[in-house]
Amino acid sequence: MPLSPQPMIVSQGARSASVIVKVLILGGTTEASALARVVAESGIPALFSYAGRVASPRPQPVETRVGGFGGVDGLARFLADNRVTHLVDATHPFASQMSHNAVAAADRTGVRLMGLTRLPWTPVPGDQWQHVPDIEAAVDVVAGPAERIMLAIGRMHLDAFTRQPQHHYLLRLVDTPQAAIPLPHHTVTVDRGPFTVDGDRALLTTHGIDQVVCKNAGGTGADAKLTAARELGLPVLMIDRPEPPPRQEVHTVDDVLAWLGHDADLGV
Ligand code: NAP
Repeated sequence: MPLSPQPMIVSQGARSASVIVKVLILGGTTEASALARVVAESGIPALFSYAGRVASPRPQPVETRVGGFGGVDGLARFLADNRVTHLVDATHPFASQMSHNAVAAADRTGVRLMGLTRLPWTPVPGDQWQHVPDIEAAVDVVAGPAERIMLAIGRMHLDAFTRQPQHHYLLRLVDTPQAAIPLPHHTVTVDRGPFTVDGDRALLTTHGIDQVVCKNAGGTGADAKLTAARELGLPVLMIDRPEPPPRQEVHTVDDVLAWLGHDADLGV
């Protein structure tokens, strides 16, 4: 069933004629929520989509759906059924499958696509980072003697680290895990960002952490652990991002609004 609301005429000012705009935001990130807020405030018709990975996702000020679309075919059908004109892929930089599907479905339907992506974190003096291209490479790197590792990669790919069962892993998860954690030695802390440097310094110290393993998520919600690791002289194993699909991409909500034909100064 198509979701309401219906498309609306949105003026693009003096630059061009008015266009019909209805936006689908692929979410699951702080940036997606920020975009939903300003889009709602601007009166732009929009839908918001969550994958449904967390138990209680943040409520959004626009109509929200939860769950996969059913691949490229399902997403293309959804775009057409709901008369979506603009698709904003504001998913996490590691949500590679969804981003590739968005490109394919936009190509097929003619819906305009924009990626809203955080810039990656970059090291500053004092950081001790080692870069690896993916999770499997990170698992290879931690092949040494037992350590206490903060493994900040979410819950989806913990299985990979069963190859290194000697370590004690500190896992910070959004929800209390429903399934058994596959790692023999671990501690779970349930918390949701944004995190603070003081909090993360205390976390790393209390748990006697020797190194941090994390994905290069970028943004400010989860970078406190990097500052805390630097201050404590701890090494960080940084899993670099997968290659994004070929598409237009911006890094700020204002840039998305400008793309949608709105003046970013209009109260947003
Ligand atoms: P993924 O591997 O790229 O996507 C797997 C499948 O999940 C997609 O093919 C799609 O299913 C569904 N999906 C993903 N994002 C969706 C969305 N916003 N709305 C509807 N369906 C969606 O994604 P992932 O890495 O599992 O991430 C899932 C969600 O968690 C994303 O929304 C992402 O923004 C968020 N997240 C991911 C990470 C991370 O490290 N990967 C971290 C924080 C938040 P169908 O093919 O059936 O459409």
